[in-house]
Amino acid sequence: MPTTSKRDYYEILGVSKNADEKDIKKAYRREAMKHHPDRNPDDPAAESKFKEASEAYEVLTDARKRAAYDQYGHAGVDPSMGGGGFGGGNFSDIFGDVFGDIFGGGGGRGRGGPQRGSDLRYTLDISLENAVKGTTVEIRVPSLSSCEVCDGSGAKKGSSAATCGTCGGAGQVRMQQGFFQVQQTCPTCRGRGKTITDPCGACRGQGRVEKTKTLSVKVPPGVDTGDRIRLSGEGEAGPEGGPPGDLFVQMSVRQHPIFERDGKDLFCEVPITFVDAALGGDLDVPTLDGRVKLKIPPETQTGKLFRLRGKGVKPVRGGSVGDLLCRVVVETPVKLNKEQKALLEELRSSLGDVGNAQSPRQTSWFEGVKNFFDELKP
Ligand SMILES: [Zn+2]
Ligand SMILES: [Zn+2]
Repeated sequence: MPTTSKRDYYEILGVSKNADEKDIKKAYRREAMKHHPDRNPDDPAAESKFKEASEAYEVLTDARKRAAYDQYGHAGVDPSMGGGGFGGGNFSDIFGDVFGDIFGGGGGRGRGGPQRGSDLRYTLDISLENAVKGTTVEIRVPSLSSCEVCDGSGAKKGSSAATCGTCGGAGQVRMQQGFFQVQQTCPTCRGRGKTITDPCGACRGQGRVEKTKTLSVKVPPGVDTGDRIRLSGEGEAGPEGGPPGDLFVQMSVRQHPIFERDGKDLFCEVPITFVDAALGGDLDVPTLDGRVKLKIPPETQTGKLFRLRGKGVKPVRGGSVGDLLCRVVVETPVKLNKEQKALLEELRSSLGDVGNAQSPRQTSWFEGVKNFFDELKP
């Protein structure tokens, strides 16, 4: 954040250097009201003024930050100097503090009528096999369900909720705030539009009770980490009989001991003996559908990739099936017995010294090393 072009915090809020917290709050409220994004949609200038005022407010109402600012200016509270940042999320918190629910910060409240329940998220861990082939999983979700005793109304059986007398059922009341007429959530019914005189005992008038429900989730073949399955209406019940939210089941595919997944392709490493690598051979390669034979040609080197078409994953959103890519790694034999060692010694003398045609890579490597040292010579 550049500190040079910043305006003075006191100037931004239009207060004097010895303004007290009450004055600062009042000034911020005035500035923020004027520039609030809700009042100035698609106006970047207003938005930046709003943020500027929020930042000034945050500093000047924090005794420690204000003292640092008074002494060192912006450098004293510059977030890059370790003073604690002004993230995008910060000013909304301040906003809530000063405004309460003048703008209806409660989110979703105050529209009148029953409110929709919250959406829920559930993370489902599944194996790669199940992610590729699809599966059905039972999950247990703790949630707020509609109260069966009162059918979610919150009112005792036989009685019913009455329309709120303060707001006439609208859930909001109009109030004069200086020059502005603002809407505020009704204090009597807290936005519900209804009041319950005789609350249901089972849910204490909430219309919802905590319950754990068991759900069967059908996971389609091809899902990957991050994919979401929406179970409509399986979220929390709405308060006072409002419609339920949705449940989002978020996929998390576990690591597999053999296969690595990249979108629709699978990768695996296949160790081969250096005899197979040299002479060629048939290998048993694992796929998610069982073993398949892979023909390794003679003179195969470590790192060579073999592509098995159509042995990958069929994407959940459609499209062609991916491939399985097998990366061959030549393994040096260990724990050789006397006879095997003797055979290798025989092979060594048969191959002769470094530089022969049987090891082209080693030969060119030694060439490179030799040139390197030659160039170093004065
Ligand atoms: Zn109830
Ligand atoms: Zn009301």
